[in-house]
Amino acid sequence: MTIIRGATTVEADDAQEISGAVKEMLDEIFARNALRKEEVDGFLFSLTADLHSRHPAKAARECGYDFAPLFACTEPETEGGLARCIRVMLFTERPAGTRAAHVYLRGAKILRRDISEIYNIALDGPAGSGKSTVAERLAEDYHILHLDTGAMYRACALGALRRGIDPRDGGAVGEMLKDLRLEIRYEGGRQHTLLDGEDVSEAIRKNEVSAAASDISAHPAVREKMVEMQRKIASDMSCVLDGRDIGSVVLPGARFKFFLTADPRVRALRRQKELEARGEKVDFEVLLREIRARDKQDSEREISPLKRAEDAVSVDTSGLGIEEVVAKIKSLIQSKI
Ligand code: C5P
Repeated sequence: MTIIRGATTVEADDAQEISGAVKEMLDEIFARNALRKEEVDGFLFSLTADLHSRHPAKAARECGYDFAPLFACTEPETEGGLARCIRVMLFTERPAGTRAAHVYLRGAKILRRDISEIYNIALDGPAGSGKSTVAERLAEDYHILHLDTGAMYRACALGALRRGIDPRDGGAVGEMLKDLRLEIRYEGGRQHTLLDGEDVSEAIRKNEVSAAASDISAHPAVREKMVEMQRKIASDMSCVLDGRDIGSVVLPGARFKFFLTADPRVRALRRQKELEARGEKVDFEVLLREIRARDKQDSEREISPLKRAEDAVSVDTSGLGIEEVVAKIKSLIQSKI
C-alpha cells in the first residue's frame, strides 16, 4: 500500500469554501498521481478544530469521490498550528515504496516546503500602471499572498509625517528607523500594514503620503530595511510582489517577472478615480504633474531606480481593462510553467 498525503486551507469556516477546497485538493492529488478510482482503498480526512461547517467526507462524496470509504476526524488543537486546515491521507493499492506526489495547497504549502515549491511573481512599474490591482487578482486566483511593497514605503513616510520629520532629511529618517515599528500581517489573505501597532492600511493611501513615500524611498537605510523584510516574506510564502525594484533588486531570481507601463495621462486618470472612490477630490492636471514628478524621482534616484529588469516581460496596460491585463499575465505565466 502507498499513502498519498494532501493538505489545504480555507479562509473562513464556510461550507461552500470547504467543499471547494476539498475538491481542489482531491482533484490535484488524482491529477498529479495519475490515480485511477480502482486503485483507491479509502480516504482519511482531518480538520483543525476551528472548522465545523462542512464535513469533508460529505464534501468529497458530493463531488464524486464516493467510490471508497471516507472518514473524517477533528485534530487536537495545537498552539501555533496552521489555522483552518484540512488534511487527507489517501490509501492506495500501489505497492509500498511507489513514488507519490503529495499535494500541499494554499496556506498549507508552508507545512511542506520541501515538496511544495515556493515561487514569486514580481510586478514592477510606475504609479497607476495597474500593478496593485493586477497583483491582488493574481494572488487571489493562485491562492498566494500579495505583498504591496509600496505600502511599506508609504507607512515609513506616514511615520515621518506624524513625527514632524522631513522625509527628505536622510539623517532624521535614519534615526527614526531605529524605533519605527513596521509590520505586515495577513488576515483572510489581505495585507494589513501596521505602523507602531496601528493599522494604517487606509491612512497611507492619502495623496499627501504618495509624494512623501517617493522622497523617503530614496534613502539607502530605508531601502535596506524594507528589502530585508520583503525578502523574508517572499522566502516564507509564495507571493506576488508589486513595486519598483522587485525584479531588479529585491528578488532578481523571481520565477516570473513583469513590468507594467501605461501612458501618464491614463495613469493620472486611474489615480483620480481611485482617490475619488475614497472621497478625495484632486484635480486631474495636478495628479498628472505629481505622477510625472514621481516617475522622474523614482527613475532617477541613485539606488534601486524604477527600471525594467532585463528578463522582465513588459506589458503596456494603457488601452487594456483589468481583466485583459490579468488574462494576459496569466497566459504568459502558463506558457512558462
Ligand atoms: O506603489 P506606490 O505608489 O504605493 O508606492 C509609493 C512610493 O514608494 C513610490 O513612488 C516609490 O517611490 C516607492 N516604492 C519604491 N520601491 C518599491 C515600492 C514603492 O521605491 N518597491
